[in-house]
Amino acid sequence: MSRFFSEKYLDLEPYVPGEMPKNRKEIKLNTNENPYPPLKEVTDAVAEESKKLNLYSDPDSRDLRKALAGNLDVPEDEIIVTNGSDEILNFAFMAFCDKHTPAIFPDVTYGFYPVFAQINQIPYEEIPLRDDFTIDTGKFYQAAGTLFIANPNAPTAIALERDEIEEILKRNAYNVVVVDEAYVDFGAESCLPLVKDYDNLLVTRTFSKSRSLAGARLGVGIAQPELIADLNAVRNSTNPYNVNRLTAAAGIACLKHDDYNMENCRKIIETRTWSEHALKDLGFEMTTSRTNFLFARHPDISGEKLYEELKKRGILIRHFKGERVHDYNRITVGTPAQMEKLVAAIKEILEAGA
Ligand SMILES: *Cc1c(COP(=O)(O)O)cnc(C)c1O
Repeated sequence: MSRFFSEKYLDLEPYVPGEMPKNRKEIKLNTNENPYPPLKEVTDAVAEESKKLNLYSDPDSRDLRKALAGNLDVPEDEIIVTNGSDEILNFAFMAFCDKHTPAIFPDVTYGFYPVFAQINQIPYEEIPLRDDFTIDTGKFYQAAGTLFIANPNAPTAIALERDEIEEILKRNAYNVVVVDEAYVDFGAESCLPLVKDYDNLLVTRTFSKSRSLAGARLGVGIAQPELIADLNAVRNSTNPYNVNRLTAAAGIACLKHDDYNMENCRKIIETRTWSEHALKDLGFEMTTSRTNFLFARHPDISGEKLYEELKKRGILIRHFKGERVHDYNRITVGTPAQMEKLVAAIKEILEAGA
């Protein structure tokens, strides 16, 4: 840290992204990316759009929002697009939290929430999950702040049903409730149908996981026009060109061929089921995943040791050091071939004696 760094950031603990190996031979199951690459139609659209890189992108992202409105079946003025969904989440912390309106989220959830609270000097409260990592929804009723609920949750992989979230919405009429649906396409119920009835609901989505565009950085927020206007005020005070031309072109082309994405989600769910069985046969315990990852622990080997042994063998998974989760690992569901290699490597590690 230099002697010039603002003292307001002295306590900042930045988010630590999963490792990004230089060696492309590694099997990368550590950041919940989609193992299937984007279609040629998408990369062609990006190449074509790149001819206009001398021009700023559309600050209102009209074509992209129009494509999203068709895809999600919501009006265009209920949509905001951002540079990854991390950006819309940060905007929500900026727009809907302050000294008197803390951020409230589960104690085990997306690691970026406390970081967004810190960088924006917002107090936050962490509500403990039950021992089995499920959310005790009653603890979120009549909250004293803005709620952030990842559904499905990460890294636990567990989802709430829509009616459970609707009850939280009803019991928080004076609070904004942000439902982070980064993984919803892998088998959970979306809260999008509730947007028309609840003016306190913001749903966030991303193209990073189910639509194979993690590297493009494209996030979406869906809410009634008043909340969207607040978020746009923050966006236009931060970076009005937050979605660049190449990303917008990629997003539009991607939605045109959304059947490809949905078919990939179906394949990933199938591979997830296969992987769950294979890992349970090896003695793993895990939560019921409705995401593209598994949250698993083994009684005979620590989470950290398993992570290290797999890394030696060229397979990356994610280990978190947090008190409640350090026994576990978060394992992204890759292709069937990748998961077969993972299972074979784990077998070898367990047989060698943990
Ligand atoms: C991956 C993830 C995000 C952010 O995704 P972006 O790549 O920034 O769109 C947000 N929330 C959760 C729970 C995630 O796992």
